[in-house]
Amino acid sequence: MKIISINAGSSSLKFSLINMEDESVIANGVFERIGIDGKYTIKFNGEKYTEDVQLKDHNDAVNILLEKLISLKIVNSLDEIEGVGHRVVQGKDLFDKTVIVDDEVMEKLESIKHFAPLHNPANMLGIKAFQKALPNVPNTVVFDTAFHQTMKPETYLYAVPYQWYEKYGIRKYGAHGTSHRYITEVTSNLLGTENFKLISCHIGNGASITAIKDGKCVDTSMGFTPLAGVMMGTRSGDIDPSLLPPVMEAENKDINAIINDLNKNSGVLGLSGISSDMRDLEDAYNKGNERAILTMNKYARRITDYIAQYYVLLGGADVITFTAGVGENSPLVRKLVCDNLACLGIKIDEEKNQVRGKQTLISTEDSKVKVYVIPTDEELMIARDTLELIKR
Ligand code: ADP
Repeated sequence: MKIISINAGSSSLKFSLINMEDESVIANGVFERIGIDGKYTIKFNGEKYTEDVQLKDHNDAVNILLEKLISLKIVNSLDEIEGVGHRVVQGKDLFDKTVIVDDEVMEKLESIKHFAPLHNPANMLGIKAFQKALPNVPNTVVFDTAFHQTMKPETYLYAVPYQWYEKYGIRKYGAHGTSHRYITEVTSNLLGTENFKLISCHIGNGASITAIKDGKCVDTSMGFTPLAGVMMGTRSGDIDPSLLPPVMEAENKDINAIINDLNKNSGVLGLSGISSDMRDLEDAYNKGNERAILTMNKYARRITDYIAQYYVLLGGADVITFTAGVGENSPLVRKLVCDNLACLGIKIDEEKNQVRGKQTLISTEDSKVKVYVIPTDEELMIARDTLELIKR
């Protein structure tokens, strides 16, 4: 049984073809610059195939992908593909789990698309393209927000006029839910129980921290949009909104331009003035660059703030996990964060912490909380959900 996981953006479409017998990735790749000119990269059998092709819309990308699956002999027939799982960024409170796409689901998606205007419409284009190209194959939608639907109102509501929630749906929705859910499952397997308190740190270019009790999300650091929470590669994380009017006036910018600055020109990039990439920041930090040191300390501090908050919220923690680009690959960030948490009896083993991208217990035996590095796999989670639903 083979399943395709899809992550469609406004001008790109990433795919993974997964063999569900052993959960191995058969092929993966990306179609880029859709609607501009077009290019694809497909990785299969240790080879990388790349070509500039005309991609005028998502239908072109899907049609060429299916054509290539046959011509590169990745599959013998398209009948081998039994399901397509689509990542969708925002499901609001209409979706608390993965579902099979039907007309009603598409209508619901249509009704909430303005909540994630850069992402949801693109995700829908991906779904429609597969519905057209493979009309007999079921599509599922896997939401970044679904895992966080177990938060209580006192957690997801902002202290703003209640009507904003009632009338406009203003509340915390969170993101990275598929990754946090995957990490929860792996942790559950590692501990051999479903009953544990976990603080899951997904730290990539985007970053979020989630408090999980007995497999369910209790709180998460992202908010109404992914702009909230910890400091990220280019996003500010939490700020005081009252700082906006003086900046808007001084820089003669409207609210959209300022929100763009908070999303694209802030965080590690904005504060350091060096780069949004943690590798560049680490290089500058190691050379003693003052702004890099300031930025790194602030970055680690913001992650610590959330872990400390969630430690109290959960009444302690059994496990803290680090995942995604930075969480999996930066011993420095993990060390700074865990050192900040020393008063909770959290200790990591310097040597074990040197790991990159490999599942490892990095805490010492006498650490009061286990600390793991666990590589995330959102594509596999999407494929697993899809398999689960189409088997029924
Ligand atoms: P996204 O949020 O875009 O999915 P990823 O989870 O792929 O991001 O993380 C990308 C980030 O991971 C990069 O911007 C970089 O900061 C960081 N990263 C990747 N490799 C390393 C490394 N070896 N050391 C430190 N940071 C790394």
